[in-house]
Amino acid sequence: MDFQSIKSLEQNYLMNTYKRFDIALKNGSGSTLYDYEGKDYIDFSSGIGVNALGQCYKPWIEAIYKQAQTLGHTSNLFSTLPAVQLGEKLCELSKMSKVFFSNSGAESNEGAIKIARKYSYERYKSKRYTIISLVNSFHGRTISTLAATGQDVFHNYFFPFTEGFKFVEANNIKALEDALTPDVCAVLMEPIQGEGGVYPLEKEYLLAVQELCNKHDVLFMLDEVQTGVGRTGYFYAFQAYDLKPDVVSSSKALGGGLPFGAVLVNEKCKDVLGPGDHATTFGANPIVCAGALELIATVGQDEFLQSVREKGAYIVSKIESFRESHPQSPITGIRAQGLMIGIEVDADLAALSRHCIEAGVLCLTAGKQTIRLLPPLNISYDEIDLGLSRMLSVMSNSEPR
Ligand SMILES: *Cc1c(COP(=O)(O)O)cnc(C)c1O
Repeated sequence: MDFQSIKSLEQNYLMNTYKRFDIALKNGSGSTLYDYEGKDYIDFSSGIGVNALGQCYKPWIEAIYKQAQTLGHTSNLFSTLPAVQLGEKLCELSKMSKVFFSNSGAESNEGAIKIARKYSYERYKSKRYTIISLVNSFHGRTISTLAATGQDVFHNYFFPFTEGFKFVEANNIKALEDALTPDVCAVLMEPIQGEGGVYPLEKEYLLAVQELCNKHDVLFMLDEVQTGVGRTGYFYAFQAYDLKPDVVSSSKALGGGLPFGAVLVNEKCKDVLGPGDHATTFGANPIVCAGALELIATVGQDEFLQSVREKGAYIVSKIESFRESHPQSPITGIRAQGLMIGIEVDADLAALSRHCIEAGVLCLTAGKQTIRLLPPLNISYDEIDLGLSRMLSVMSNSEPR
């Protein structure tokens, strides 16, 4: 097989929903990937925040292999050991009370939305169903999570969306206060807006949101689909600020590369959903759970989370010093928490990211002018240095717009 044959099969048989690069990836190891010509790429993208421990992480492979040889899919009509062990471990790490396992980020947010609406319905009856999310947010591609997504570009063609969502500006507590009408049952926000451009919410804002929510018995729900599972140098980003969310959605990195998600709830919400209220066929698949257990045994360790913060600081300082020595570079700002890094550029974003990828470093874009880096959390310093030298050499040759 070569690239051209793969591409022509793709054009014939896969729906044309993705603007793909002209690269087919063949294999990989750690944070290095290879295409069909044998060219290597340093991975600063983790398959969009998924491969927390890179490609082919041995203990994870062994865990899923062993589980697949023992017991695979069972349905949720029966109890399995990997699911309950993972539930216990995730609750310990997050200090949340209970979990529902799903298969994706959007599905986890759907679960959060259902929890919010049932919680409020049971206490206040109907007409208290509105969920407030933020302008520039991203919560998924289903009809309801699109309704919760505060970016108009996603709102073409697919009307009508689910009712009961409204948006306020991020980091503006007055705007949220004004929006807290009696019909509101929850707020849903990303601690760092990922797809929107790597914009962190301010700590004071998050604390004030939490206080307002508690005062009005409105659920404080965090979408940690991208920020969770070690990405920011904390197991969940909310733990950096000692927040106490009512509901947390998780996915992307949680399955170590297999499709997985979770909705975590605190004491107040742990019994909101009862038998028959919510379900998913593949949720809590024993193979995925066994892999996730192995993954979080590593990522959940304090020393590991510390190393994520150190690597993030190292990358940021290298980019900062490049920026100082190259005043003509397109870089206009850097926003980062742990290994979630946004480099704001004044440049043709699509062309710049394509040039980086052609130069052998896989990076992402976010929002209108941000190069987003989400490297595997266990990336080596050698891989960081090689990836940065490739990326920064592209940036030193790129014309400011
Ligand atoms: C990726 C992402 C989602 C959607 O996840 P899917 O698995 O693609 O459904 C939702 N919220 C945030 C914050 C994300 O980054």
